[in-house]
Amino acid sequence: MTSKTSRYFGSMTQASLLIIGSGTSSGVPIPGCDCPVCTSQEPRNVRMRTSAVLRLPSGNQVLIDATTDLRHQALRAGIRRVHAVLFTHAHADHILGIDDLRAYNFLQRTAIPCYGFASTLDSIRRTFWYVFHPDETYQGSSAPRLQFNTLHPYEPLSIEGVPILPLELLHGRTVVAGFRIGDLVYATDCNAIPQRSWEAMRGARTLILDALRYNPHPTHFTIPQAEQLSAELGIPQTYLIHLSHDVDYQTVSKNLRSGVELAYDGLELPIRL
Ligand SMILES: [Zn+2]
Ligand SMILES: [Zn+2]
Ligand SMILES: [Zn+2]
Repeated sequence: MTSKTSRYFGSMTQASLLIIGSGTSSGVPIPGCDCPVCTSQEPRNVRMRTSAVLRLPSGNQVLIDATTDLRHQALRAGIRRVHAVLFTHAHADHILGIDDLRAYNFLQRTAIPCYGFASTLDSIRRTFWYVFHPDETYQGSSAPRLQFNTLHPYEPLSIEGVPILPLELLHGRTVVAGFRIGDLVYATDCNAIPQRSWEAMRGARTLILDALRYNPHPTHFTIPQAEQLSAELGIPQTYLIHLSHDVDYQTVSKNLRSGVELAYDGLELPIRL
């Protein structure tokens, strides 16, 4: 926790967001890669796939995405319960940890409520066919128990009385769910913000935003694009996520504009609801 973020703690703080993964789809380091970032000793260059945990005032926890690294992330962050999962979209790096949700089914003895846009839930149903269409070919192992709920853009859902507004983000041609939660916006995997989402972001104090690297990419914001967006939105503090192995924490951090920082695994940000 940096001094910049701790100023919001105190009686106003009712919830927080813990970044449990800040890396792109490959994770960082990449197996077999000898580049300076993948071989560095800087712990903030070690990035699991992008994901976060919303900690509610009750202490209950909502997972954002279930990444390929979920089991390891859960052990590292000490995630002992998962009360719900918000899915941003169905790309492999955001859903392939779904089977590891079984640990929480066993502990909690109940199905886990999961939320996503209809297109995302349909894609998950296809990928995890054995969860939804069990047959004899999958005998001998258990499947996760999930209770699916369809999110509609700009219609808030409420979890334990905490309003969460789903926003549409564009990730190439894929529509991704962003979330406005109190004074925080979570916007992974995107390279364009529709006007209505732009308006819904106004007044936020913290933006968690996709910024893959410096070089252009067809479906992710670059770091300069994210810096520009952050300035145009006027949000005081932006943290960049979904970072590739082109991004050395220390070198890039020195060159970011004021109010923009790189996120890292383990960063926890307060939310004012
Ligand atoms: Zn991704
Ligand atoms: Zn590398
Ligand atoms: Zn994606």
